[in-house]
Amino acid sequence: MGENTILITGGCGFIGTNLVEAALQDGYTVGNLDKLTYAGRLDPPHSPRCFSPYVFRQGDICDIPLVKGFLENLKPSAVVHLAAETHVDRSIDAPEKFVQNNILGTHALLRAVLQYWRQLPEEERYAFRFLHVSTDEVFGSLGPEGFFQESTPYAPRSPYAASKASSDHMVRAYGHTYGLPVIVSNCSNNYGPFQYPEKLIPLAINRAIRGQTIPVYGDGQNIRDWIYVEDHCRALLSILRKGRTGETYLVGGNSEKSNLEVIRSICSILDELHPRADRRGYIQQLTFVQDRPGHDRRYAVNATKIMLELGWKPRVRFNEGIRRTVEWYLSQQRWVEEMLSGKYGLERLGIPKNGVIP
Ligand code: NAD
Repeated sequence: MGENTILITGGCGFIGTNLVEAALQDGYTVGNLDKLTYAGRLDPPHSPRCFSPYVFRQGDICDIPLVKGFLENLKPSAVVHLAAETHVDRSIDAPEKFVQNNILGTHALLRAVLQYWRQLPEEERYAFRFLHVSTDEVFGSLGPEGFFQESTPYAPRSPYAASKASSDHMVRAYGHTYGLPVIVSNCSNNYGPFQYPEKLIPLAINRAIRGQTIPVYGDGQNIRDWIYVEDHCRALLSILRKGRTGETYLVGGNSEKSNLEVIRSICSILDELHPRADRRGYIQQLTFVQDRPGHDRRYAVNATKIMLELGWKPRVRFNEGIRRTVEWYLSQQRWVEEMLSGKYGLERLGIPKNGVIP
């Protein structure tokens, strides 16, 4: 087993692409297993500056023999599990996919990993980690006060959140029942480079510069705790190195913003970096649209445990991170076009069609 070798699932998605890069920079040998759904792309940010070995395998976490074969060849000392369907609006339109990939997929992965882990020598079994990357959405919706913490009871309210909650429980069950050394992290909303343009921030940037309306769900007062993706990746690598088996770590950016505040920031950065031809502000493209069914009002994370135990804290402030993100999308329009390429046209998803939710 390579002490410094890890398997990342979903390494071609938004966080995965950033994490593969960060892990390679940290000197890990990385195996990346990804099905390459609409959200995944085999991009080469996986830096030529890195000399650490990197192996990509296209495949589905539901395919136990394929996963086992990859594990046996790679011989990782840890698995970092990110592969999932991740868009809440798509989970409203097609919840079955979320059950299949997030619940059954995580379970199939656990079976394959358990078989691999069991045949390791004792010392390597002890050192092994299965890090399950989850979301703060499993805790449901907060009122104006308070924060999620590790002890907050689960109360998922969207099919996406419920599928992640279910996978969290299954991962912990494998820890308790079979002794697999598991850790769960629940992180708040990420933003930054390589996020699929269906999500709030890249959707707003890309619709704005195409002269389209910038949709804001409901009254725009839904609050999320935004974290720059690089900070999340550093947190995951800290957990991998120093996290305690069987524990849960909440990760957050300590940066609560309403959706309306986020959109206003994007518009003012675009006004400066990419002014409209008529010189009028992008804010005039903002349009309030029908709210998401079951839209959670507020998420906020108390990340004290990871800060005190592992010495991690977010470094990138929202103002800086959002500017970097806008700059990245402005300079990467080819990537955006290739990601969309007939699969998605920046349109609204997750609303009842003809009054009926499919
Ligand atoms: P993403 O949608 O950008 O990427 C998901 C990746 O998983 C894609 O590359 C896709 O091809 C791959 N994938 C999907 N199903 C697969 C399967 N069955 N087998 C193999 N690969 C498969 O997602 P993301 O935003 O990068 O999120 C990654 C993980 O982090 C998810 O588990 C998500 O729940 C969690 N998370 C995300 C956020 C966030 O704000 N984005 C916050 C907290 C936790």
